[in-house]
Amino acid sequence: MIEPLEQLQQSLKGQGSLTEPRRIIFTALLYQEPQTMSQLVAACRGQVDRASVYRTIALFEKLGIVQRLQIGWKYKLELSDAFHRHHHHLTCLKCGQVIPFDGDQALERKLQTIAEAKSFKIQAHQLEIQGLCQACQRKI
Ligand SMILES: [Zn+2]
Ligand SMILES: [Zn+2]
Repeated sequence: MIEPLEQLQQSLKGQGSLTEPRRIIFTALLYQEPQTMSQLVAACRGQVDRASVYRTIALFEKLGIVQRLQIGWKYKLELSDAFHRHHHHLTCLKCGQVIPFDGDQALERKLQTIAEAKSFKIQAHQLEIQGLCQACQRKI
């Protein structure tokens, strides 16, 4: 796997250079659990202002560098599959915890089969499973 920053530079091609704010925002997302926009803004506080974080994330989404996980009517942000191993998420609807799990081969094949049956060519997919984590189940 090539260096994440090097890959970021390639992904940005034609969209300007790897500026310092872009590098900081990218680094704040790297190897982290999915974050909300306000968590990300907080992580960059003092280095990148709020408006720049929003603007950069919009660009990163457009270029497929960042993806959104939809959690009810809210969302969290994480780097796309290009920057880490393909995986899925279990999301707790109560505390918002996101538990990643690796793409299981049988599951991936099944998705492929479903798409092929509809003559559909998959380019990417996300799988979000929503429910209650162990701790929140106990609180009910
Ligand atoms: Zn929970
Ligand atoms: Zn998958």
